[in-house]
Amino acid sequence: MGRLIAPHAEIETPVFMPVGTVASVKGIPQETLEELGAQIILGNTYHLYLRPGVEVIRRMGGLHRFMSWPRAILTDSGGFQVFSLNELRKVTEDGVTFRSHLDGSSHFFSPESAMQAQIGLGADIMMAFDECTEYPADGDRMRASMEMTARWAARSKKYFEEHKNEVPWACVGTDAPVGPEGRRSESSAVWSASGFAAEYGEAHSDAEPRSPGKPKVSVPMHSEATQALFGIVQGGMNRELRKESAERTIEIGFPGYAIGGLSVGEPRALTREIVESTLEHLPADKPRYLMGVGTPEEIVEYANLGVDMMDCVLPTRAARHGLLFTSEGRISIKQARYAQDEAPLDPNCPCRVCQRYSRAYLRHLYASNEMLAQVLNTIHNLSFYLDTMRRVRHSIQLGESS
Ligand SMILES: [Zn+2]
Repeated sequence: MGRLIAPHAEIETPVFMPVGTVASVKGIPQETLEELGAQIILGNTYHLYLRPGVEVIRRMGGLHRFMSWPRAILTDSGGFQVFSLNELRKVTEDGVTFRSHLDGSSHFFSPESAMQAQIGLGADIMMAFDECTEYPADGDRMRASMEMTARWAARSKKYFEEHKNEVPWACVGTDAPVGPEGRRSESSAVWSASGFAAEYGEAHSDAEPRSPGKPKVSVPMHSEATQALFGIVQGGMNRELRKESAERTIEIGFPGYAIGGLSVGEPRALTREIVESTLEHLPADKPRYLMGVGTPEEIVEYANLGVDMMDCVLPTRAARHGLLFTSEGRISIKQARYAQDEAPLDPNCPCRVCQRYSRAYLRHLYASNEMLAQVLNTIHNLSFYLDTMRRVRHSIQLGESS
């Protein structure tokens, strides 16, 4: 089990990161995410850049304060969405020209502008700008794409190093939360060994009344607290190219490494093979992040292989479609067989949904197209994922201490 010190949280790994695409984990308020024990969530740079715009968020002190989320945030580089949502994109050495999926307007992302956007958003962890290689791709294409990602990684790091002090919370330490008596909460920041100010959600209990106009979310008070930039390994489905990509990315030097370009339509066995072989080439003393994966079974499998961080839209997206993950397997709550089922969704789940509601009621909400169906389903699925990862950490801890 590892511990990752970020400006807004100390994260126990392996960790699952719920996806909050547009500064919102769909269907679930931030206080509920805290209650479920989410340590870090993801924001998508592409979506936030288009709406509400980086400048709006930057002026409000960054993403943490904008969305009132006191724990850690990771933003992706925008690369994956540009590649997956834009059929008309144009890629050159400089960067990618793409059209907004919202209004068709033309935009340009380069390694530099993607870093600038992510610094403006102010997540704890940001990602180098990469090219997500499509699947299938031939050998020449996989190599060219991997090499482009390596050059873009170097440019990303250069820009980041020169501009990391521009993060919106770097110089606003005096805006720490004010308690009920108008005093700053003494316990709201602690110092970690690495010199980062770690921020804990518990320091701001919900019992504390919120002064009007005062943001509830604190910002790090240590002037040296900065974001971390992670590199991304590409190389398609070729083990040799993956090895070379890992080596070249490590040579540039990042505090963490991600495996990108998977879950793009390849068979699951191939995903596993590439993950396993790529992990061998990544340093075990730095966090290793597998992007965009996977099912509850897969996140356990990959955590046991040594992956420290994972994110996936599956628990939240499936929940909105009535697909629920339980300790007894998957349940499609729309099925008529649950219409009179008084049992909880998952008898082994401690979440507030399983403690309170029956399958019959959840099925009724879904069939009636009630908003509450999506909310409750999302709470359960995320709770199941976060609990699954908690159990993995526990078993790793037991293994380490025996
Ligand atoms: Zn539950």
